[in-house]
Amino acid sequence: AHTLSERINRIEVSATMAITAEALRLKSQGIDLADFGAGEPHFSTPEHIKQAAIQAIEKNYTRYTAVAGIPEIRRAIVDRHAADFGTNYAPEECSFTTGGKLALFNAIEVLIDHGDEVIVPTPAWVSYKDIIQFAGGVPVFVETSEVENFRVTAAMIEAAITPKTRAIILNSPSNPSGAIMAKDDLYSIVRLAHERGIYALLDECYVYLCFDGEPVSGASVTECKEHIVVLGSLSKTYAMTGWRAGFALAPKPIIAAINKLQSQSTSNTNTMVQHASIAALSGSQQCVADMRAGYIEIRDRVLEGFQSIPGLTCTVPQGAFYVYPNVSAFFGKGGVNSASDVAARLLSEAHVVCVPGEPFGTADHIRLSYAVSSSVVDKGLERMRTFFASLT
Ligand code: PLP
Repeated sequence: AHTLSERINRIEVSATMAITAEALRLKSQGIDLADFGAGEPHFSTPEHIKQAAIQAIEKNYTRYTAVAGIPEIRRAIVDRHAADFGTNYAPEECSFTTGGKLALFNAIEVLIDHGDEVIVPTPAWVSYKDIIQFAGGVPVFVETSEVENFRVTAAMIEAAITPKTRAIILNSPSNPSGAIMAKDDLYSIVRLAHERGIYALLDECYVYLCFDGEPVSGASVTECKEHIVVLGSLSKTYAMTGWRAGFALAPKPIIAAINKLQSQSTSNTNTMVQHASIAALSGSQQCVADMRAGYIEIRDRVLEGFQSIPGLTCTVPQGAFYVYPNVSAFFGKGGVNSASDVAARLLSEAHVVCVPGEPFGTADHIRLSYAVSSSVVDKGLERMRTFFASLT
């Protein structure tokens, strides 16, 4: 037997990746799945972004760069953020990373010590817990309520603060619920964090996928900049999940620490991806608006379909591309007793892929990613209708 480190034994394989693996296994057996599992756009990366990468290769932009990325990508990131949110980050306050996940991982590694607490409102993205625990930190979950549309308030955060609290992670729009924080709540929590000397880690992975009104960033509260760390990603905004492009924006000493860590792990992010990302951030943003319009259409199609499934209830997602229906009305019926049971049976009997709510921190829900074609939506809804009807 191999003896692995205590550190690696502290974490688990990402629950969403485990589902993806099982779905791939069934697919390889020729089974036709309605796949709402993976959280990634079904759109292809826009053409001008792909062309920028092809040109980068042809121009032999194939060598190492500065660990934080070339000056032009850092400039493109801070300019985009300044234009959209009124922030004032300098290129030295920016690091380009191999996906938003690495930006978060790096930030947690450089800010969190053993025993430090990080407040995480739930339901929350599955990886927060493990990334915090890998650093030796302790996730402190703050439950939100479905009847209040998963609202997070400053009072809720304040009640969870202890002398050991070092950071708060905020994710709006939210994976898994699609909820968007009210601007007042977001700003109040950023101010609270600043007053208490706690870092507000703003996961802005879905910030541009908001369906009513303009995107909102907590970093717009610029007087609190000292305690704000923005974790950004191009994955969902520009349909670039496989490229692995993300970034951190933070005060210079934090970025310097992130760069130091990155200098001993990945070094710079793929050089062609840096050039493609410049094209994404500096080019026309019409592609983002077009994809957002597409998501709104699919969301409405899904919600309409849910209305014909008696027992299923669902908050209206205001952003991202997830729905988070409550399936607790079916517990105790047909041998189903938990969200995990529902997800497992949907997969094995209905060939519908979704993720159960438990890893996100709620027991009554399943998460469906609706970044899929309308034919998959229609097929999936029909199968769900049949499956849930069979449980009564
Ligand atoms: N944050 C949230 C809430 C996510 O859902 C994801 C991806 O699913 C990420 C961050 C990281 O995305 P990436 O590493 O592709 O930028």
